[in-house]
Amino acid sequence: MKIAVASGKGGTGKTTVSSSLVSVWESPVIALDLDVEEPNLHLFLNPEFTDKRMANMEIPKIDDALCSKCGQCGELCQFKAISLMGEVLMTFPEMCHGCGGCIAICPEGALTKDFRELGEITWGKNGKNEFLMGRLRVGEAMSPPLMRAVKEKLGEMLDASSTDVIPKDVIIDAPPGVSCPAINAVMDSDLIILVTEPTPFGFYDMKLAHEAFLPMGKPMGVVINRAGLGNSEVYDYCNEVKLEIFAEIPYDRKIAEAYANGDVISESSDEMKQIFISLADKVKEKAGSNASQGGAA
Ligand code: SF4
Ligand code: SF4
Repeated sequence: MKIAVASGKGGTGKTTVSSSLVSVWESPVIALDLDVEEPNLHLFLNPEFTDKRMANMEIPKIDDALCSKCGQCGELCQFKAISLMGEVLMTFPEMCHGCGGCIAICPEGALTKDFRELGEITWGKNGKNEFLMGRLRVGEAMSPPLMRAVKEKLGEMLDASSTDVIPKDVIIDAPPGVSCPAINAVMDSDLIILVTEPTPFGFYDMKLAHEAFLPMGKPMGVVINRAGLGNSEVYDYCNEVKLEIFAEIPYDRKIAEAYANGDVISESSDEMKQIFISLADKVKEKAGSNASQGGAA
Protein backbone atom coordinates (compact mmCIF):
# COMPACT_ATOMS: atom_id res chain seq x y z
CA MET A 1 0.00 0.00 0.00
CA LYS A 2 1.36 3.39 -0.99
CA ILE A 3 -0.03 6.50 0.65
CA ALA A 4 0.87 9.94 -0.71
CA VAL A 5 0.67 12.96 1.57
CA ALA A 6 0.28 16.04 -0.61
CA SER A 7 -0.80 19.66 -0.36
CA GLY A 8 -1.68 22.46 -2.76
CA LYS A 9 0.90 24.72 -1.15
CA GLY A 10 3.84 24.55 1.22
CA GLY A 11 3.58 25.21 4.93
CA THR A 12 0.24 23.47 5.51
CA GLY A 13 1.67 20.68 7.68
CA LYS A 14 2.26 18.00 5.05
CA THR A 15 5.49 16.75 6.62
CA THR A 16 3.89 16.93 10.08
CA VAL A 17 1.22 14.53 8.85
CA SER A 18 3.71 12.28 6.99
CA SER A 19 6.04 11.90 9.98
CA SER A 20 3.18 11.31 12.42
CA LEU A 21 1.59 8.73 10.16
CA VAL A 22 4.93 6.88 9.92
CA SER A 23 5.18 7.01 13.70
CA VAL A 24 1.78 5.43 14.41
CA TRP A 25 1.73 2.95 11.48
CA GLU A 26 1.57 -0.49 13.09
CA SER A 27 3.56 -2.50 10.55
CA PRO A 28 6.98 -1.53 9.13
CA VAL A 29 6.87 1.16 6.45
CA ILE A 30 9.24 2.81 4.05
CA ALA A 31 9.12 6.55 4.74
CA LEU A 32 9.81 8.18 1.38
CA ASP A 33 10.58 11.87 0.99
CA LEU A 34 9.92 12.76 -2.65
CA ASP A 35 10.01 16.50 -2.00
CA VAL A 36 13.48 16.43 -3.56
CA GLU A 37 13.77 20.21 -3.87
CA GLU A 38 13.36 20.69 -0.15
CA PRO A 39 13.42 17.36 1.71
CA ASN A 40 12.76 17.72 5.43
CA LEU A 41 11.07 14.49 6.57
CA HIS A 42 14.43 13.28 7.92
CA LEU A 43 14.57 16.26 10.28
CA PHE A 44 11.53 14.85 12.11
CA LEU A 45 12.19 11.11 11.83
CA ASN A 46 15.97 11.28 12.45
CA PRO A 47 16.81 8.13 10.48
CA GLU A 48 20.20 6.49 10.67
CA PHE A 49 21.53 6.88 7.13
CA THR A 50 23.31 3.78 5.89
CA ASP A 51 24.15 4.51 2.25
CA LYS A 52 23.78 6.91 -0.65
CA ARG A 53 24.38 7.20 -4.37
CA MET A 54 24.42 9.94 -6.95
CA ALA A 55 21.73 10.16 -9.63
CA ASN A 56 22.80 11.28 -13.09
CA MET A 57 21.08 12.14 -16.34
CA GLU A 58 22.37 11.28 -19.78
CA ILE A 59 23.25 14.33 -21.90
CA PRO A 60 24.96 14.62 -25.32
CA LYS A 61 28.65 15.40 -25.81
CA ILE A 62 29.78 16.73 -29.19
CA ASP A 63 32.79 15.47 -31.12
CA ASP A 64 33.49 18.50 -33.35
CA ALA A 65 35.81 16.52 -35.58
CA LEU A 66 32.93 14.24 -36.62
CA CYS A 67 30.09 16.78 -36.70
CA SER A 68 29.04 17.80 -40.24
CA LYS A 69 26.83 20.63 -38.90
CA CYS A 70 23.75 19.11 -40.52
CA GLY A 71 21.53 20.48 -37.75
CA GLN A 72 19.32 17.39 -37.44
CA CYS A 73 19.93 17.10 -33.70
CA GLY A 74 18.76 20.68 -33.08
CA GLU A 75 15.65 20.15 -35.19
CA LEU A 76 14.78 17.06 -33.17
CA CYS A 77 15.31 18.51 -29.71
CA GLN A 78 12.03 19.86 -28.32
CA PHE A 79 13.81 21.64 -25.50
CA LYS A 80 16.38 23.66 -27.47
CA ALA A 81 19.08 21.91 -25.47
CA ILE A 82 21.23 21.40 -28.57
CA SER A 83 21.29 23.96 -31.31
CA LEU A 84 23.26 24.89 -34.41
CA MET A 85 24.11 28.58 -34.23
CA GLY A 86 25.65 29.52 -37.53
CA GLU A 87 28.52 27.08 -37.88
CA VAL A 88 28.74 26.36 -34.16
CA LEU A 89 26.84 23.48 -32.53
CA MET A 90 26.10 24.23 -28.89
CA THR A 91 24.60 22.22 -26.05
CA PHE A 92 22.71 23.61 -23.05
CA PRO A 93 22.96 20.79 -20.49
CA GLU A 94 20.60 22.40 -17.95
CA MET A 95 17.79 22.32 -20.53
CA CYS A 96 18.41 18.72 -21.61
CA HIS A 97 15.74 16.19 -20.59
CA GLY A 98 17.99 13.21 -21.27
CA CYS A 99 15.80 11.61 -23.94
CA GLY A 100 18.85 10.49 -25.96
CA GLY A 101 17.09 11.35 -29.24
CA CYS A 102 19.89 13.54 -30.60
CA ILE A 103 22.49 10.84 -29.96
CA ALA A 104 20.33 8.26 -31.72
CA ILE A 105 19.59 10.46 -34.74
CA CYS A 106 23.10 11.83 -35.45
CA PRO A 107 24.15 10.42 -38.86
CA GLU A 108 27.86 10.97 -38.17
CA GLY A 109 28.07 9.41 -34.73
CA ALA A 110 29.29 12.80 -33.51
CA LEU A 111 27.30 12.70 -30.26
CA THR A 112 28.20 10.46 -27.36
CA LYS A 113 26.84 10.08 -23.85
CA ASP A 114 27.92 12.39 -21.10
CA PHE A 115 26.27 12.83 -17.71
CA ARG A 116 24.82 15.64 -15.66
CA GLU A 117 24.57 15.19 -11.91
CA LEU A 118 20.95 15.50 -10.73
CA GLY A 119 21.33 14.97 -7.04
CA GLU A 120 21.75 12.44 -4.29
CA ILE A 121 19.66 9.49 -3.13
CA THR A 122 20.08 8.58 0.54
CA TRP A 123 18.56 5.76 2.56
CA GLY A 124 18.69 4.20 5.96
CA LYS A 125 16.79 2.87 8.99
CA ASN A 126 14.30 4.48 11.31
CA GLY A 127 13.55 1.97 14.07
CA LYS A 128 11.39 -0.77 12.53
CA ASN A 129 10.98 1.39 9.42
CA GLU A 130 13.17 2.17 6.44
CA PHE A 131 13.81 5.65 5.14
CA LEU A 132 14.52 6.93 1.62
CA MET A 133 14.95 10.43 0.24
CA GLY A 134 16.28 12.35 -2.75
CA ARG A 135 17.97 15.73 -2.65
CA LEU A 136 18.26 17.80 -5.82
CA ARG A 137 21.70 19.28 -6.57
CA VAL A 138 21.81 23.01 -5.90
CA GLY A 139 21.18 24.78 -9.22
CA GLU A 140 19.44 21.76 -10.80
CA ALA A 141 16.01 22.74 -12.13
CA MET A 142 14.44 19.40 -13.05
CA SER A 143 13.23 17.25 -10.21
CA PRO A 144 11.17 14.54 -12.02
CA PRO A 145 14.27 12.69 -13.35
CA LEU A 146 15.71 12.53 -9.83
CA MET A 147 12.33 11.45 -8.50
CA ARG A 148 12.33 8.60 -11.02
CA ALA A 149 15.77 7.54 -9.78
CA VAL A 150 14.50 7.63 -6.17
CA LYS A 151 11.55 5.48 -7.20
CA GLU A 152 13.93 2.96 -8.77
CA LYS A 153 15.68 2.70 -5.41
CA LEU A 154 12.28 2.30 -3.75
CA GLY A 155 11.60 -0.60 -6.12
CA GLU A 156 14.87 -2.22 -5.00
CA MET A 157 13.92 -1.78 -1.33
CA LEU A 158 10.46 -3.25 -1.91
CA ASP A 159 11.94 -6.19 -3.83
CA ALA A 160 14.40 -6.81 -0.99
CA SER A 161 11.53 -6.86 1.51
CA SER A 162 9.22 -8.96 -0.67
CA THR A 163 9.92 -12.06 1.44
CA ASP A 164 8.85 -10.28 4.66
CA VAL A 165 5.82 -11.80 6.39
CA ILE A 166 4.06 -8.44 6.09
CA PRO A 167 4.88 -6.50 2.88
CA LYS A 168 6.09 -3.00 3.62
CA ASP A 169 3.74 -0.09 3.09
CA VAL A 170 5.11 3.19 1.75
CA ILE A 171 4.26 6.64 3.09
CA ILE A 172 5.25 9.33 0.59
CA ASP A 173 5.91 12.92 1.56
CA ALA A 174 5.09 14.57 -1.79
CA PRO A 175 6.25 18.00 -2.98
CA PRO A 176 3.71 20.80 -2.49
CA GLY A 177 1.76 22.29 -5.39
CA VAL A 178 0.21 20.80 -8.50
CA SER A 179 3.06 20.94 -11.02
CA CYS A 180 4.95 17.96 -12.54
CA PRO A 181 6.85 16.97 -9.35
CA ALA A 182 3.64 16.79 -7.30
CA ILE A 183 1.85 14.75 -9.96
CA ASN A 184 4.89 12.49 -10.31
CA ALA A 185 4.95 11.89 -6.55
CA VAL A 186 1.30 10.88 -6.17
CA MET A 187 0.77 9.00 -9.45
CA ASP A 188 1.82 5.57 -8.10
CA SER A 189 -0.01 5.86 -4.79
CA ASP A 190 -3.12 3.96 -3.72
CA LEU A 191 -4.56 6.91 -1.82
CA ILE A 192 -3.85 10.63 -1.60
CA ILE A 193 -4.13 12.64 1.60
CA LEU A 194 -4.54 16.37 0.94
CA VAL A 195 -3.28 18.44 3.85
CA THR A 196 -4.71 21.92 4.12
CA GLU A 197 -5.64 24.63 6.58
CA PRO A 198 -9.05 26.30 6.83
CA THR A 199 -8.00 29.66 5.40
CA PRO A 200 -8.84 31.25 2.02
CA PHE A 201 -5.32 30.43 0.71
CA GLY A 202 -5.53 26.91 2.10
CA PHE A 203 -8.92 26.40 0.48
CA TYR A 204 -7.84 27.77 -2.91
CA ASP A 205 -4.69 25.63 -3.12
CA MET A 206 -6.41 22.49 -1.82
CA LYS A 207 -9.14 22.91 -4.48
CA LEU A 208 -6.45 23.21 -7.17
CA ALA A 209 -4.74 20.07 -5.90
CA HIS A 210 -8.02 18.16 -5.67
CA GLU A 211 -8.93 19.11 -9.26
CA ALA A 212 -5.41 18.26 -10.52
CA PHE A 213 -5.34 14.81 -8.88
CA LEU A 214 -9.00 13.91 -9.53
CA PRO A 215 -8.47 12.55 -13.10
CA MET A 216 -6.16 9.87 -11.66
CA GLY A 217 -9.24 8.31 -10.04
CA LYS A 218 -7.53 7.57 -6.74
CA PRO A 219 -9.25 7.67 -3.34
CA MET A 220 -8.60 11.04 -1.72
CA GLY A 221 -9.30 12.58 1.65
CA VAL A 222 -8.43 15.72 3.54
CA VAL A 223 -6.56 16.41 6.74
CA ILE A 224 -7.32 19.87 8.09
CA ASN A 225 -4.40 21.29 10.00
CA ARG A 226 -4.84 24.21 12.41
CA ALA A 227 -8.58 23.44 12.63
CA GLY A 228 -10.38 26.26 14.41
CA LEU A 229 -8.51 28.92 12.47
CA GLY A 230 -9.96 30.76 9.46
CA ASN A 231 -13.34 30.18 7.84
CA SER A 232 -15.65 27.42 6.56
CA GLU A 233 -14.68 27.40 2.84
CA VAL A 234 -12.64 24.15 3.08
CA TYR A 235 -15.49 22.41 4.93
CA ASP A 236 -18.13 23.72 2.47
CA TYR A 237 -16.08 22.56 -0.52
CA CYS A 238 -15.46 19.09 0.94
CA ASN A 239 -19.16 18.79 1.65
CA GLU A 240 -20.11 19.96 -1.85
CA VAL A 241 -17.76 17.61 -3.76
CA LYS A 242 -18.10 14.76 -1.22
CA LEU A 243 -14.43 14.83 -0.31
CA GLU A 244 -14.07 13.13 3.04
CA ILE A 245 -12.32 14.90 5.90
CA PHE A 246 -10.14 12.15 7.35
CA ALA A 247 -8.85 14.10 10.35
CA GLU A 248 -8.56 17.52 11.95
CA ILE A 249 -5.49 18.72 13.83
CA PRO A 250 -6.46 21.46 16.26
CA TYR A 251 -4.95 24.93 16.14
CA ASP A 252 -2.90 24.74 19.31
CA ARG A 253 0.22 26.57 20.43
CA LYS A 254 1.68 23.37 21.94
CA ILE A 255 1.52 21.65 18.54
CA ALA A 256 3.25 24.60 16.90
CA GLU A 257 5.97 24.43 19.55
CA ALA A 258 6.41 20.68 19.02
CA TYR A 259 6.71 21.29 15.28
CA ALA A 260 9.24 24.08 15.80
CA ASN A 261 11.30 21.73 17.97
CA GLY A 262 11.36 19.14 15.17
CA ASP A 263 9.15 16.74 17.16
CA VAL A 264 6.80 14.22 15.59
CA ILE A 265 3.49 15.63 16.80
CA SER A 266 1.74 12.27 17.14
CA GLU A 267 4.31 11.60 19.88
CA SER A 268 3.63 14.91 21.63
CA SER A 269 0.43 13.89 23.49
CA ASP A 270 -2.10 11.07 23.82
CA GLU A 271 -4.71 13.23 22.09
CA MET A 272 -2.48 13.69 19.04
CA LYS A 273 -1.52 10.03 18.98
CA GLN A 274 -5.20 9.06 18.90
CA ILE A 275 -5.90 11.49 16.05
CA PHE A 276 -3.18 9.87 13.93
CA ILE A 277 -4.07 6.29 14.87
CA SER A 278 -7.63 7.04 13.69
CA LEU A 279 -6.21 8.63 10.53
CA ALA A 280 -4.05 5.55 9.83
CA ASP A 281 -7.10 3.27 10.31
CA LYS A 282 -9.17 5.45 7.98
CA VAL A 283 -6.45 5.50 5.33
CA LYS A 284 -6.03 1.71 5.39
CA GLU A 285 -9.77 1.23 5.08
CA LYS A 286 -10.14 3.71 2.20
CA ALA A 287 -7.04 2.58 0.29
CA GLY A 288 -8.57 -0.90 0.55
CA SER A 289 -8.87 -2.71 -2.76
CA ASN A 290 -6.90 0.02 -4.54
CA ALA A 291 -3.81 -0.99 -2.62
CA SER A 292 -0.85 -2.64 -4.34
CA GLN A 293 0.98 -4.39 -1.54
CA GLY A 294 4.72 -4.40 -2.22
CA GLY A 295 6.13 -4.05 -5.76
CA ALA A 296 7.95 -1.19 -7.38
CA ALA A 297 6.57 2.34 -7.49
S1 SF4 B 1 23.13 15.58 -35.97
FE1 SF4 B 1 25.28 15.05 -35.58
S2 SF4 B 1 26.36 15.75 -37.40
FE2 SF4 B 1 24.38 16.76 -37.41
S3 SF4 B 1 24.74 18.70 -36.36
FE3 SF4 B 1 24.07 17.26 -34.82
S4 SF4 B 1 25.95 16.41 -34.00
FE4 SF4 B 1 26.49 17.38 -35.92
S1 SF4 C 1 19.09 14.21 -25.11
FE1 SF4 C 1 17.04 14.85 -25.82
S2 SF4 C 1 16.60 16.67 -24.60
FE2 SF4 C 1 18.80 16.33 -24.44
S3 SF4 C 1 19.69 17.56 -26.08
FE3 SF4 C 1 19.36 15.53 -26.93
S4 SF4 C 1 17.34 15.62 -27.91
FE4 SF4 C 1 17.51 17.40 -26.53
